[in-house]
Amino acid sequence: MSTPQPRANVAEIPPYVAGKPPTVRPGMTSYKLSSNENPYPPLPGVIEAVQAGVGAMNRYPDMGSAALYAALAETFDVPAGHLSVATGSVGLIYQLVQAFCDPGDEVVFAWRSFEAYPIAVTAAAATAVKVPVLADGRHDLDAMAAAITDRTKVVLVCTPNNPTGPAVSQSELDAFLARVPSHVLVVVDEAYVEFVRMTDPVDGIATYRSHQNVVLTRTFSKAYGLAGFRVGYAVAPAPIAAALRAVSLPFGVSTVAQAAAIASLERRAELFERVDSLVAERTRVVEALRGVGWDVPEAQGNFVWFELGDRTLDFAAAADEAGIVVRPFAGEGCRVSIGETEANDRLVAVAAAFTR
Ligand SMILES: *Cc1c(COP(=O)(O)O)cnc(C)c1O
Repeated sequence: MSTPQPRANVAEIPPYVAGKPPTVRPGMTSYKLSSNENPYPPLPGVIEAVQAGVGAMNRYPDMGSAALYAALAETFDVPAGHLSVATGSVGLIYQLVQAFCDPGDEVVFAWRSFEAYPIAVTAAAATAVKVPVLADGRHDLDAMAAAITDRTKVVLVCTPNNPTGPAVSQSELDAFLARVPSHVLVVVDEAYVEFVRMTDPVDGIATYRSHQNVVLTRTFSKAYGLAGFRVGYAVAPAPIAAALRAVSLPFGVSTVAQAAAIASLERRAELFERVDSLVAERTRVVEALRGVGWDVPEAQGNFVWFELGDRTLDFAAAADEAGIVVRPFAGEGCRVSIGETEANDRLVAVAAAFTR
């Protein structure tokens, strides 16, 4: 008897491996450093804004997310028609591939990079073209430009790169964009943009303003600490933003998520003090790791990358023993989020004691 069959690409979709929760150890606080979450609890005022929305849960959310669009437009000084909000920036990546790729079209991205990329690309029956990152964890933008063919529709640039950590500079991005044909969409995934502290950082807004084929994707999940609420936004020229909105899930961004995002935009100054503290912790951790001999790549996000090869799972187990859960990529390395000071201290201790 024949049964309904999904498209062949569905069986090829790689699984998303979510960061594990910490192992509960009696008498010891455990920390989750496996999902690049923000360790701070919601700011006062954000919870109250959400509570006001809770009472309206019998109603659909504002489908047009009008207040959120207005707040984003004002914050970033862009027209509301150049924005598209979605259920996290993962939602935006899916929508971009869906809107711009026919089956078999190619999407070029660095690898290892964000694990949702091959999932979104394969789900759309497009073809993933993975360009290895350089030894120091940076995008190989020359090789990525060279990988563009007449089947290429989209290039994803993840900066800072999850999980390796370095960010692309503006001059590197400009040189790359000059080599990309104007019909190829360049997605600049800026999930960690608020954590970048480097010379010549990318100015995403200026870059999208000067290119017809550039879209920025950003999220409230990391710096803003709203990972549980699923809100992201894209900034793009009007036709691209319109295509994104056309394929978006109706009512995807819930009432409470809209309220939390708006309240968080209003409290950016306070939130960014927290980001500064996390960046200071990142600097402290990276210096301590280098001080005990670890050659960790430049860390521009809220996480650090340990290249460990076949010692990856041993390192993850050692961290687990110390009450911190990290994100291992078997055979490659571990990504560890910057978290509470105590958690970061434990990470440094684990790394110092670990024999490679
Ligand atoms: C966390 C992350 C995202 C954002 O995820 P959300 O869906 O917005 O929670 C996007 N891109 C990268 C590279 C990330 O690490």
